[in-house]
Amino acid sequence: MKNISVIGSGTMGNGIAHVFAQFGYNVSLIDIKEEALNKAVQTIEKNLDRQVSKQQISEETKKQALANIKTFTNLQQGVATADLVVEAATENVELKLNIFKEMDAFAPASCILATNTSSISITKIASVTKRPQHVIGMHFMNPVPVMKLVEVIRGYNTSDEVTKNIMALSTQLQKVPVEVNDYPGFVANRILMPMINEAIYSLYEGVAGVEEIDTVMKLGMAHPMGPLQLADFIGLDVCLSILQVLYTGFGNPKYAPCPLLVNMVQAGHKGVKSGSGFYQYIAGSKELIVAPQFIK
Ligand code: NAD
Repeated sequence: MKNISVIGSGTMGNGIAHVFAQFGYNVSLIDIKEEALNKAVQTIEKNLDRQVSKQQISEETKKQALANIKTFTNLQQGVATADLVVEAATENVELKLNIFKEMDAFAPASCILATNTSSISITKIASVTKRPQHVIGMHFMNPVPVMKLVEVIRGYNTSDEVTKNIMALSTQLQKVPVEVNDYPGFVANRILMPMINEAIYSLYEGVAGVEEIDTVMKLGMAHPMGPLQLADFIGLDVCLSILQVLYTGFGNPKYAPCPLLVNMVQAGHKGVKSGSGFYQYIAGSKELIVAPQFIK
């Protein structure tokens, strides 16, 4: 594999493009918005600069990585010569199904179609293509250039050969791939989201306050960040939508989202991205301030 197309140039897409370009692949980065592409290239340059200043890569590698990236607003042109497409567009089922239909029509017949979805069924996505054996989940973690894990998700029809190729490719990117099967939440979110939900229930039921819950998990379980702070970083709307996928996918009430989480999302408190969640995020401040409604 030499030519990699990445669809969506947001938080995850720019990180995925960065890593492939750093390891010498030709990258076509595709987005519907020109400004998203410009911002992505700036972010990649800034992150490569950081790697140079930490002496993780040379100035030459940085220059070559930037030269390896081309940007497109036209999907047909962007995937025309791809060996692999990694889709990292907005988490929305209809949007992803449409993108996969287009990729199936325009990418070469041998091309592998991967998705970075956090929660949508790989089998369902594969079912709208004529090559379900070539469709696979390649779930990178945020921030992509830093985090080692790639959850490689086999859809019901994904072939052994495609799985083997994606596992080997992830290793070439100096990541650690883990093969999992396609069931709701895969492994990462099936375990992480119920933990976050339980932390929110502990707050909702008055067992402890925001800082107390996060301190227990940080100091007691050696987690680098407490579950409530982590939920703010992921986005409370994203946590809610993944819990709903688990709840409906398994039909098990143990995954029912906490009513406090539902209320917070409906009220627009989505965490870091909206400026407040369990904590308040004041521009320019690194101090962690508990949101006023949770101060006793
Ligand atoms: P984001 O909102 O930062 O970026 C999405 C990008 O997709 C935007 O730039 C948008 O313009 C673009 N886009 C929308 N429709 C498009 C289309 N039809 N064609 C091309 N581009 C299109 O989102 P994100 O956080 O980078 O998430 C992307 C995917 O990665 C989602 O499936 C998400 O579930 C998954 N994911 C996210 C994280 C995370 O921590 N953010 C972690 C793992 C997986």
